Amino acid sequence: MKFPSTLISTLSLLLALSSSPLHADEHAIHEEHGVHEHGAATLSLAVGEAGVDIMLESPAANIVGFEHAATTDEDKQTLADAQKKLEAGADLFAFNTEAGCTLNSTEVVSALLGNTNTEKHDDHSDMDVAWAFTCTAPAALTEVTTKLFAAFPDGFEHLKVEWVTDKSASAVALEKDDTIKLTP
Ligand SMILES: [Zn+2]
Repeated sequence: MKFPSTLISTLSLLLALSSSPLHADEHAIHEEHGVHEHGAATLSLAVGEAGVDIMLESPAANIVGFEHAATTDEDKQTLADAQKKLEAGADLFAFNTEAGCTLNSTEVVSALLGNTNTEKHDDHSDMDVAWAFTCTAPAALTEVTTKLFAAFPDGFEHLKVEWVTDKSASAVALEKDDTIKLTP
């Protein structure tokens, strides 16, 4: 059988109309149940014999404000500034002085920096950071103060902090910078 051309046009139009809202819904669902939620991030602290390792897993948007490849000079500058800020780990965390902790190294990993391609999910990119602090008395480390919310005021909203020492482990949710007590 042969469809009248008007019917075909109508069907095409309906399909075109229905595909846009569907796509938007899919995007919304992906945002909600997807691999990361903008504003949220996870911070993991592990106190060992040499010091403390801190890992941040975050959507890149929290740190640089975008997740697409940096192509304009402005984006590239924003990215470079953010990387510099992250590498200054001593400005992002404070420790009780008895522990004698100093920053040893920082590694920033992101598809935006071109040093990984595993963190990219559709239109989303993560930025993960590993800070290694060496402490003269790691066993005396009892308090870690975060300064991430202040450093990236437009980015972080919820920070899930998980910490572990040789004596105990726990987790805490932060909505603003705070001091985490590493005690049972
Ligand atoms: Zn994203």
